[in-house]
Amino acid sequence: MAPLGNTAKSSPTSEIQERARLKRAERYEGLAVARYWLYRHVQRVDPARNPGDVYRTHDCRYVRRQRQVEVKVSSETNVAHYAGLATCGSVWACPICAAVIQQKRRAELTKLIQWAYASGYVPAMVTFTAPHTAFDSLADLKAKMTDAFTRLRRGNSWDLFRKRCGFDGLVRSTEVTYGQNGWHPHTHEIWLIKGMSQFDQAGFVQFVKERWAKACMASGLLKSDDMIKRWHFGIHAVDVRFGITDSDYLAKQDASRAWGVDHEMASQSAKKAGPKGVHPHEFLIRREKGDGARFMEYIHAMKGASQLFWSRGLKAWVGIDDVADDEAASDETPPDEVSRVLGAMSPEQWSLVRKLHKRAQLLEAAEIGGWDAVLSLLYSLGWSPYE
Ligand SMILES: [Zn+2]
Repeated sequence: MAPLGNTAKSSPTSEIQERARLKRAERYEGLAVARYWLYRHVQRVDPARNPGDVYRTHDCRYVRRQRQVEVKVSSETNVAHYAGLATCGSVWACPICAAVIQQKRRAELTKLIQWAYASGYVPAMVTFTAPHTAFDSLADLKAKMTDAFTRLRRGNSWDLFRKRCGFDGLVRSTEVTYGQNGWHPHTHEIWLIKGMSQFDQAGFVQFVKERWAKACMASGLLKSDDMIKRWHFGIHAVDVRFGITDSDYLAKQDASRAWGVDHEMASQSAKKAGPKGVHPHEFLIRREKGDGARFMEYIHAMKGASQLFWSRGLKAWVGIDDVADDEAASDETPPDEVSRVLGAMSPEQWSLVRKLHKRAQLLEAAEIGGWDAVLSLLYSLGWSPYE
């Protein structure tokens, strides 16, 4: 037994743990690159300003919010995380906050699907895409898609459709990937429908497809005289699956968000940016020519957009508290777990860790060898208690 501090339970590392640690290390590397790119951008456009005031991600998990930086471990999984640091809460700009928020949102979506079936709904997953080329800016595509969604869901025929299929609400997840044909914004929606017996599924799909085509033509995403694009559009632009499970939906989201280690394992060829492309956080790791500018374009275009949209009143209906992204990101304790403090670092110790890019490695040490291992790491980084 170690005389001081708490010692983490040590157990042989499973392959899953190993992979989770690799991914976390990659996210911290990504966050360090984001910090540098954001700094460089502010230097170029407005050097008098403090980068952390312009982009909160610049300071995320780097700047202290209290004197000591705590290392905490979660009760069930023994996963370590920091407390007492600034967090940015951006799903778009920050690979770490995105992962923390996503973990919490997954629990909410699972709850929604369970609630839906228990309440007699048939949840359907509806995926919308729109044509795009390498010359389209993301901001332009996003504005046109927002316009197309407004058009999709207004007017008498939509209201009638809603009534006929008992449409009572939706959750929309907005995803962006980047590939051969440039930016590819798309959405995965869960529709809550009740009473499909009055409406055949083929008719339902046909209606949504036709309506989406009209909406895209009106918003400038699809040209009415481009027959080849229209033919592709007819096949790919709308995908509907009835009676989905939560894992169907989450897997679809994951497919758009895969980047880094898992991405590499899942498909070597996907790395080469096929038609579906890569998640923008991949820019932070692969760092190809132009990726820095693409990352900035992405975060500027998506700033303020909500990644997950719930139709009005739905959260309350399901019994889910409305927790904003920045609040969700500020506490890394996984859903349904509690964390305990393993130990705390002085400002000097933390300066050393962040300067030497050891943020991920320190968490790993805490998980494997408890606070003793954290101290050993700090000594090996050159920290001395006698200075
Ligand atoms: Zn962040």
